[in-house]
Amino acid sequence: MSNCAIVGVNWGDEGKGRMVDLLTSDYDVVVRYQGGGNAGHTVVNDQGKFALHLLPSGIFRKDVVNILGNGVALDCESLWAEMADVITKGVSITPENLKISDRASLLLPWHRDLDALEEQRLADKKYGSTKQGIAPFYSDKFQKKTVMAGELLYPAKLWEHLAGILEWKNLTLEKVYGAKPYTMDDLRAWVADFGEKIKPFICDTGAFLRQAQDQGKRILFEAQLGSLRDLDYGIYPYTTSSNAIAAYAPVGSGLPTAKLDKVVGVVKAYSSCVGEGPFTCEWFGEEAEKLRQAGNEYGAKTGRPRRVGPIDIVATRYGAACQGVTDIALTKLDVLSYLDQIPVCARYELNGALTDDFPFPALLPDAKPVVEYLEGWQCDISGVRTWEDLPEAARKYVEYVEKAIGCLITYVSVGPERDAIILR
Ligand code: GDP
Repeated sequence: MSNCAIVGVNWGDEGKGRMVDLLTSDYDVVVRYQGGGNAGHTVVNDQGKFALHLLPSGIFRKDVVNILGNGVALDCESLWAEMADVITKGVSITPENLKISDRASLLLPWHRDLDALEEQRLADKKYGSTKQGIAPFYSDKFQKKTVMAGELLYPAKLWEHLAGILEWKNLTLEKVYGAKPYTMDDLRAWVADFGEKIKPFICDTGAFLRQAQDQGKRILFEAQLGSLRDLDYGIYPYTTSSNAIAAYAPVGSGLPTAKLDKVVGVVKAYSSCVGEGPFTCEWFGEEAEKLRQAGNEYGAKTGRPRRVGPIDIVATRYGAACQGVTDIALTKLDVLSYLDQIPVCARYELNGALTDDFPFPALLPDAKPVVEYLEGWQCDISGVRTWEDLPEAARKYVEYVEKAIGCLITYVSVGPERDAIILR
């Protein structure tokens, strides 16, 4: 299999980084195809523990070429901070193993400001943005009001282009939000600092990928967030501002003709959700706190406690369908070991009727969870490495989820470490 995408099936934080880190040994190239530095993958391997935000998770493997595709929100500031952190821990990052698409658009300094200003204006109606500037960035990209990374290589053209955008952007900053305008000097200082730092990594990654494909290289496409946060297919407007689903991988990577041979959908053995929006299976109080602590459910970027609940079969089945998954990786099964009964949100009740179908976003707040219980196993499974060695109740839980979603669970993860995996 030459092309594979690893994607989230739920609300994000399913453990995609962990799966990419594991599977990169079979691939030559890893490409991040969407999103920015607003979410985080946590990777634990023999080099340490890392919180990645923009860097592809293949960065830890020798001989893997990592690409930030044209679909990402290229935040030079946070990318550089992340690179510096990873390099300090002994990982080598060079233009040989990290390539940034010249067609990736730049997240500019005002995008972060605008994100914060808009959340402030919305007050209690806010969307729960991480204030990394992602929504203002993508709106500007689609309005053609930002610059591409490759323009950093052509300063005369860059400055002419930026001057026009600056004039337009200051209208919004000053007249809509009453905020301080930016000057060309601000921009020059920003480019001289962060733009210069990432310049050596910028190249025509589309040409690189086409060549890699012609040479039969194996390419792994890495997503951020999950199906339910996809701009078009998620719980709009509580989505992210880009397409997280596998179908976008060819477009956002720089290889628009790529065919995906395999789509690994990462599903968490329970549910977690960061930020605002309807979350039907949500738990509150002590029962939520126990699960949050067992699963260490605090944001990798923000440290915010994540909302948690049992696995949501309705949302997961829909999420898997949006991704066209060929395989499922079920992660964090070990976290459920403390429960004597394992709760499952098996279906929803919507306006007095039971349903297996994921509702239209506007109706989602009216949905109520219908919970069933499976037997727990109540023993530590984090050291188990084979299917046969899993307690019967744990196998039954995996088989229940598999049948309910209608897709093979090929990988069962029982710990954050690279080898804490059961292959079926
Ligand atoms: P991602 O954005 O989808 O990569 O997910 P996150 O990194 O935000 O969240 C996954 C978290 O769970 C990370 O801290 C991982 O180290 C951890 N993790 C992943 N798989 C497992 C697992 O099977 N068991 C346990 N206990 N932790 C896991």
